[in-house]
Amino acid sequence: MKIRQGLLMSVFAAVATALIFSTAFAEETAKLKALIIDGQNNHNWRETTPVLKKDLEDTGRFTVDVATSPDHGQDMSQFKPNFAAYDVIVMNYNGDDWCEETKKAFEEYMKNGGGMVSFHAADNSFTNWAEYNKMIAVGGWGGRNKAFGPYLYWKDGKQVVDHETNGTGGNHGAQHEFLVEVRDPDHPITKGLPLKFRHCRDELYEQLRGPAENVKILATAWADPKQRGDGRHEPQLMVISYGKGRVFHITMGHAGIQCKSVAFIVPFVRGTEWAATGEVTIPVPDDMPGEDKPVMRLP
Ligand code: ZN
Repeated sequence: MKIRQGLLMSVFAAVATALIFSTAFAEETAKLKALIIDGQNNHNWRETTPVLKKDLEDTGRFTVDVATSPDHGQDMSQFKPNFAAYDVIVMNYNGDDWCEETKKAFEEYMKNGGGMVSFHAADNSFTNWAEYNKMIAVGGWGGRNKAFGPYLYWKDGKQVVDHETNGTGGNHGAQHEFLVEVRDPDHPITKGLPLKFRHCRDELYEQLRGPAENVKILATAWADPKQRGDGRHEPQLMVISYGKGRVFHITMGHAGIQCKSVAFIVPFVRGTEWAATGEVTIPVPDDMPGEDKPVMRLP
C-alpha cells in the first residue's frame, strides 16, 4: 500500500511538473516576435528604439529583436533581415534604399500576411519605393508632392481623400500637447479607448500624401493654426491592408520622451499586436489619459 501511494505520488509529481513546464512553454511560445528596424534616421533612433522595445516588452505579449542597418552612405547589400521569422516588423527607419533583394523579401513577407508598424518618420522614408508607399498609404517629405497621390484627412465626420489640392507632402507646426480623437471606436486597436485622449508635446504630422489605398483612419488630431498647423483634422493612427498583410501607421513619437506618453504607448502596443495577429488582447490600462492632461510613464 505504501509502495502504491509512493508510486501514485511520483506519478502526480511527474504530471504536475509536466503541466508546469508545458504551461511555461506555452506562455513563452505564445509571445509574438517583433523586429524593430533602425540604423538610419533623421531622428534619434538610438534613443527611441530602446523605448519602443520596452513599451512592447512591458506588455508581456512580445519578444523584441532589433536589426540595425549600416550607416548612411555605407554598403547596404548585406542588410537582409529575416522578415519571415517575425510576426511584425516595426519600422524606425528613414534612410538609404535597401538592396533589391531585401525590398522584394519585404514585399513578399507583407503580401503573404506579414505585419508592419510605420512609426513616426518611417513614413518619410523610401520616397521612390512604390510598394512601400502603398504599405504606409501616406507619407511626407523626401520630395513627395501631388504626383505621389492625394492628401488624406478627416472632415465633416468622414475620411477625405483629396486628389485636388496641390502642395508638398509632410509638414508639422510647433511641438505642442494635443488631443487625439478616435474616429473608429469599433476597430480592435481603438475599441475601449477614451474617444479623446491627450498626448504630450510632440510634432503633429500633417499634409501627408501618397497612394492612400486600402487605408482607414482610426484617430486624428486637430492641427491648430495657432501652433502653425493647417487647421485640418490630421490622421494620427491608421490601418492599411496590403495583400494579406496588415499595417499600423502611427505618426506620433518624435523622440524618446514622446514614446513614454501613455497616449502613444497604448495605441502603439495595441496596433503592433493587431499588425501581428489581426486581433488585440492587450487591455486598456488604468493610467490611460482622458482629455485633461497627458500621462507619462517615466522611470
Ligand atoms: Zn519628428
